Amino acid sequence: MRIESYAYGNWHIPNGKTKKLYEAATGLEIGMIGTSLDSQKMIYHANFVGGKNLRQMGFHERAKILKALANYLSDRKEELYELNPLTGATRKDGWIDIDGGIGTLRVYASKGRKEMPDGKIYLDGPVEQLSRNGTFLGQHIQVPKQGVAVQINAFNFPIWGMLEKLSQSFLAGMPTIIKPASDTAYLAEACFRMIIESNLFPKGSIQFIAGGVGSLLNHLGPQDVISFTGSKKTAEYLKSSKNLIENSVKFISEQDSLNAAILGIDAKAGSPEFDLFIKEALAEITTKAGQKCTAMRRLIIPHDSLNDVSEALVEELSKVKIGNPKNIETQMGALVSEGQKQEVLKIISKMSNENTLIFNGIAPKKGAFVSPHLYYSQNALKGGIAHETEAFGPVTTIMTYDNPNEACKLIKLGGGSLVSSIFTFDAQFANEVVTDIAAWNGRIYINNRESGEESTGHGSPLPHLTHGGPGRAGGGEEQGGIRGIKHYMQRTSVQGTPEILSGINKQWVKGAKTNTQEPHPFSKTFNDLSIGETLWTETRKISLDDIEHFAKFTGDTFYAHMDEKAAKANPFFPGRVAHGYLLLSFAAGLFVLADEGPVLANTGIEYLSFQKPVTPNDEIKVSLTVGRKTRRTDTYGEIKWDVIIFNQNDEQVAEYGLLTMVKYEH
Ligand code: NAP
Repeated sequence: MRIESYAYGNWHIPNGKTKKLYEAATGLEIGMIGTSLDSQKMIYHANFVGGKNLRQMGFHERAKILKALANYLSDRKEELYELNPLTGATRKDGWIDIDGGIGTLRVYASKGRKEMPDGKIYLDGPVEQLSRNGTFLGQHIQVPKQGVAVQINAFNFPIWGMLEKLSQSFLAGMPTIIKPASDTAYLAEACFRMIIESNLFPKGSIQFIAGGVGSLLNHLGPQDVISFTGSKKTAEYLKSSKNLIENSVKFISEQDSLNAAILGIDAKAGSPEFDLFIKEALAEITTKAGQKCTAMRRLIIPHDSLNDVSEALVEELSKVKIGNPKNIETQMGALVSEGQKQEVLKIISKMSNENTLIFNGIAPKKGAFVSPHLYYSQNALKGGIAHETEAFGPVTTIMTYDNPNEACKLIKLGGGSLVSSIFTFDAQFANEVVTDIAAWNGRIYINNRESGEESTGHGSPLPHLTHGGPGRAGGGEEQGGIRGIKHYMQRTSVQGTPEILSGINKQWVKGAKTNTQEPHPFSKTFNDLSIGETLWTETRKISLDDIEHFAKFTGDTFYAHMDEKAAKANPFFPGRVAHGYLLLSFAAGLFVLADEGPVLANTGIEYLSFQKPVTPNDEIKVSLTVGRKTRRTDTYGEIKWDVIIFNQNDEQVAEYGLLTMVKYEH
């Protein structure tokens, strides 16, 4: 295989300084990598072709492309599974990488449509009132950075690593240059080639470097972002580059970390939590031959469970079938390369000097195989190699504690982790530990008998939840739903009048102009409704009979509606008051149009607040304004109506955003 780069819209074969690539399990030469490219031309192409094309689209348009890409890759994924064993990974390992990557695209496609606006500006939080009369307001917005996202990935998940990062920068609207790790770049390249062949991405939005990055980092500027995944050592080296510091180039770092799992004090041998702990620890040691950034490197267990845990793990580990991942019966494959094997063996030899080796299995001699190694560290509370050095292979260390405080101390000795697990059925123990260790972890995974069947696994970063951790783990944060997209956007606070902000936000802002138009808005389709269009209703007097009728009919006979003396004694009410829900129901009665029409259904309410009590004989009226329009499908869209209920003195008594689905007409 000649692993090609894709730059300035063309493929480039290896040239200049090239490197040979080898099959993990056999050591046979399989390919060649390394292209010398013009870094400045790549950046120019990204900015002036890719960036421009991407910023002409809105979030929904880009989200639709991600969905189409997920479908396209899904149809061709077997081609990727064919290459997967060359990396040393079994089919099961490959599932995390290939199907996991495609699944991540799907989640981002869906989140982009559901949680981001159908436009080019993302509103970050609500409008902030900055003046007494509301003529001057503030709004945080986010827009795509006008630079290039450079994504440097680790070798262990060549496809997932590429797709999870790309889905975030693409959705944000930034062009991306992808640089996979050389050892497994053939798999990343095969997937990248499919993306190009799909013809789904706009021109210039993606480029691919097979091999070294050359002078690329020296030419990055203040609008660019580097998202790095790999070892602490490489991250430190890259982060300290003069140009990146001088230009404040944003650097997101996902590094190796010494992740841990705590077995709860309550989780004795024979308990479901003990069994879950053993099952997951076994998976963490053997999946991808331990080459997972999230893998459990430290098993923190109650001192009196040492024998039980050791015996259970040794029994399970001795059954693991290690071998060529092409064989169906193989449960654990090889490390990625001979070089990686030597690295891991070096650390193993240091660990053996400091800790007690409990288990060392048998692995094939030829190829990059390392057998599972299980250690016990007697003096772990004093520190040591198990807290400091990551063996990126099937290696883990047991350490013991006598009380929750000690368990937390052991976690923190890792200096910051991507993830720590707690296996417990004791909510008090979980609370105590989480409160203490949360600041040292990007994610905390708690599993027990109630969640065991459905839990997603210690080692699985999910697109919905943040992936990244403090300190040693790099201080980065990827995924976490929309949070991860924001790395590629600039947050800016904008101040101005309601009218100005309405224009920017493409949403009605309270205080901005409204207009009343015939006919009734409920008789109009999604297309015909315009932002700011307002319906003012008739007034309706609320009688004591109405309140009593509503109370008896619904069963809500709370004293504030029924008992004058008790209501008066309440600090919030002058006497008996109307139910908040009665106000909502009467408001609907005032503004709906009864006839069958394009309004299809209510789907929810946003920011509801009851602001002033309504007492018997008060008169209410309602303003209903088209606040936001979001196309959802080909046949309907969501309208958010800003609803304000006033009393006879024109004082606001309640306010909410009403969500309805309205027919879209072609
Ligand atoms: P690595 O050696 O640090 O390499 C990471 C990436 O950096 C590779 O693409 C590598 O490219 C590139 N790189 C190295 N030197 C560079 C330079 N001077 N300029 C530009 N790019 C450079 O890490 P790895 O061996 O691939 O991955 C294993 C490590 O990644 C483990 O320590 C693991 O814990 C960590 N990891 C962390 C996460 C996470 O999310 N936190 C996820 C996966 C893995 P070449 O391959 O071409 O050298």
